Amino acid sequence: MIVSSLQPSRLLPNPRNSRCSAASAPSVPSTAASTIADEKKYILQTYGRPDVVFTKGQGALMWDTDGNQFLDFSSGIAVNALGHSDPRWLATLTEQAHKLAHTSNLYHTEPQVHLAKRLVDATPWADRIFYANTGTEANEACIKFARKAAKIAAGVDPYDPVSAAGAASEIVSFTGSFHGRTMGALALTYKDQYKTPFLPLMPGTVMLPYKNMEAATNAIKKGKTAAVFVEPVQGEGGIHPAGSEFLQALRTLCDEAGAALIFDEVQCGLGRTGKLWGHQNYGVSPDMMSLAKPLAGGLPIGAVLMTQKIADAMKPGDHGSTFAGNPLVCAAACTVFDIVSDPAFLDAVEKKGEMLREGLSAALAGNVHVKEVRGSGLICGIQLDQPAGAIVEKARGKGLLIITAGAGDVVRLVPPLIVTEAQIQHGVKVLSEIINEEV
Ligand code: PLP
Repeated sequence: MIVSSLQPSRLLPNPRNSRCSAASAPSVPSTAASTIADEKKYILQTYGRPDVVFTKGQGALMWDTDGNQFLDFSSGIAVNALGHSDPRWLATLTEQAHKLAHTSNLYHTEPQVHLAKRLVDATPWADRIFYANTGTEANEACIKFARKAAKIAAGVDPYDPVSAAGAASEIVSFTGSFHGRTMGALALTYKDQYKTPFLPLMPGTVMLPYKNMEAATNAIKKGKTAAVFVEPVQGEGGIHPAGSEFLQALRTLCDEAGAALIFDEVQCGLGRTGKLWGHQNYGVSPDMMSLAKPLAGGLPIGAVLMTQKIADAMKPGDHGSTFAGNPLVCAAACTVFDIVSDPAFLDAVEKKGEMLREGLSAALAGNVHVKEVRGSGLICGIQLDQPAGAIVEKARGKGLLIITAGAGDVVRLVPPLIVTEAQIQHGVKVLSEIINEEV
């Protein structure tokens, strides 16, 4: 397989022949073929992976077992904001791992509080944070917080199922959305394909057409809604920005109904759009916001930021997690946050995003099968009039890692936020040549 023409190889050393340190080397050396065969034999087959085994990453580049180099415009699905093996992130991790990695939430630890302070202080509407381990878990926490807050707002005893039965409890989400894969978050997720085999899911959910104000008004005005979940920029759904008008309409409807407005910023948050939070592009604030993917630079983390009103509804014992907010991930997340929240860094993301969209729009102009190039900052979608899978494969064959979105007809680009302008230009060239040849 692959690559050769990628310019970035001149920028960084190719770590070919250094794939395992002596300390971590397995006793029987593995090859790509044996790793793939063992994956098929031992691991539950819930992922359709291509035949490539990655061993190393640096910045926006990755290398496979054969030393082939790839430019990573997927970032582990919008996770590796600082790219791979960022030295500042590594230094923090190493230092913290030497000190303390895990205590459970039975005790106070410093990094957890340091991160909480950073995130809350940077978010004007937020007063508190809750830690989880993934985006799905953060959304599950939001569901619980919203339902309990709605019971308290209704003046009923949340611990008494009889008196609490009449309180608003429905959770609204929208077509195209992705909120996770567990029974609550999955019930809020759009694609039937993800849901149907696992029915029945969490009851009490309502799926409305995205950006349809009338449908939202009719549903939320019924007074049964505890919360409305929306992604300020739909990621998995095909890179669709929600826009100010829709988010403002939801804000007003939620305020009138006493429902919580929840922004799922698991994919579009933390600098991805060129603003710290995706919703800052639209001037509308939520009552809760879920975060995850990029927050700890590649380690599992989830978080919910919330207003004091929501926080007041919760008390010790209401929710928890063994791993969430452990010192190791929180220390890493502090480093990621400090880098990404720098205004100059965010400006650069915005500029690189414009360069990416403008470059693609120019190179693909005239291709009738390309319907739109859209996005915000470094989350970019190319809408095709046909499936995008073959383009993803061809791009990988030429050393460019990209993914699909939407109904499989959108090319999704979510490069690391530290991607260089030269790498953007190179990615645009490789991808537009492939698209113009292929469709
Ligand atoms: N919410 C959004 C917007 C996502 O894009 C994702 C994952 O792609 C999730 C939630 C679920 O996050 P996780 O896979 O970390 O559970």
